[in-house]
Amino acid sequence: MRNGVIHLFIPGPTNVPESVRRAMNVPMQDHRAPDFPDLTLPLFEDLRKIFAMRDGRVFLYPGSGTGGWEAAISNTLNRGDKVLMSRFGQFSHLWVDMARRLGLEVICIDVEWGRGVPVQDYESHLARDSSIKAVFVTHNETATGVTSDVAAVRRVMDAQASAALLFVDGVSSIASIDFRQDEWGVDLAVTGSQKGLMLPAGLAVLGVSEKALEASRRATMERCYFDFADMVKANDAGYFPYTPPVPLLYGLRASLDMLFEEGLPQVFARHHRLAEGVRRGVRALGLELCAAGPRWYSDTVSAIRVPEHVDGAEVCRIGFDRYRTSFGAGLSQVAGRVFRIGHLGDLNEVMCLAALASAEMSLADAGADVELGAGVAAAQAYYRETALFLEDAPVDLSPALISQ
Ligand SMILES: *Cc1c(COP(=O)(O)O)cnc(C)c1O
Repeated sequence: MRNGVIHLFIPGPTNVPESVRRAMNVPMQDHRAPDFPDLTLPLFEDLRKIFAMRDGRVFLYPGSGTGGWEAAISNTLNRGDKVLMSRFGQFSHLWVDMARRLGLEVICIDVEWGRGVPVQDYESHLARDSSIKAVFVTHNETATGVTSDVAAVRRVMDAQASAALLFVDGVSSIASIDFRQDEWGVDLAVTGSQKGLMLPAGLAVLGVSEKALEASRRATMERCYFDFADMVKANDAGYFPYTPPVPLLYGLRASLDMLFEEGLPQVFARHHRLAEGVRRGVRALGLELCAAGPRWYSDTVSAIRVPEHVDGAEVCRIGFDRYRTSFGAGLSQVAGRVFRIGHLGDLNEVMCLAALASAEMSLADAGADVELGAGVAAAQAYYRETALFLEDAPVDLSPALISQ
C-alpha cells in the first residue's frame, strides 16, 4: 500500500502545486543583498490585491496564522481594552483565549456551533457600549465549515458610529473566498501561508489599514518580534528586521502568479463550484453538514456530521490507514461527531470526487449506512452540468451565477 499519493483533504496545509514546490527549491541567499528587494517589494505590492486593499500595508512574518493574530492584537490595542468577540468553533475559541491571555477585556458571545458571527448581537452591544475598542470576526470557522458575513458586521459598526477597529481572521478564507479589506472597512486581516496561498506553513500574512497603522503608533501593549514599526522601517527598503524564510518568499511569488493568472473571481468561483459538488455528494449520502443552513456554508471546508452510532475519529483513521486519505478530524466540542473535507487551494473536480469516494468507503467501514457511489454520482452530475456552463461563459464566473 505504498503506491500512489496520499490524498490530502484537510483544510490546511493544502496541496502545494508542483510549480510552487519547484520555485521554493533554491540555494540559500543573502537576505541583505542589494538585489533582495527585487523579490520582496513586488510581493508586498501584489499581496494588496489578495486583500483587495489599496491603502495600508501588508506584513509578512515568519510564523503561522496564530502569530498573525498576536501581531494584530499586540500592535494596535492596550491591556484592559474592551473588545467584542464571538465563539462558534475551535478557531474562534482559540482567538478569544489569546485575547484574554494578552490582557484584553473580552465580551464573548457564545454561539451554537454550526452558525457564525451574531451580527444582531454585535449591534446591540455596540449600541449599549461605546467603549468597545475592537470587533473580531472569524470569517471562515474551519472547525465547523461556517462562513460569516464580514460586510454585515461593518454595516452595524457604521450604523452605531463605532470607532472600533475591525479584526478579521481570514486564515481559511483569504485567497479562496471573496474578501475585500477596503470595501468592508477591515482594519486587521490575518492569514497564513498554508491554506489558500497553497504554501507550506511558515508565513503569517497581515493586511493592515491606515487606521490600524495609526492605532499602532499609540498602542501600548508590549511587543517586540511582531512590532509593526520595525517591520515598516525594514520593509520600506525591501528588507526584514530579521531573517525571513527566503524559499517561502519564492514560493509565494509562484503562488501569487498562479492565482493572478487564473484571476481571483475565477478562483472564488472554482472554490464555490467544487464545494457545491461536495455538499451535493454529502446530501446524497443522507448526511448533514455541521453548518446550520446555506447562509453559513463554507466554500473551503465542509464539516460533515456522522450518524449517531458512528465515530468521526474512526472515519478519519480508516480513511488514512486503508485508503491513504487524510480528512480533518472533528475538534473539541464536535470531536467524534464530524469529520471534515478541506476543499481549498490547488484542487479540481476529480480530486473532490476522490475525496467523496474515499469518504464513502471510510464511512461504510466505520458502520455508516451509506450507499457506495451515491455521493460521487451526485457530485459528478453537478460538475458535468456546470462544466458545460463554464465552457459557455468562460469569463463571467461569479459564484451567484454558478449556484443557479
Ligand atoms: C488554520 C487556522 C488558524 C490557525 O493558523 P495556524 O497557521 O495553525 O497558526 C486560525 N484561524 C483559522 C480560521 C484557521 O483555519
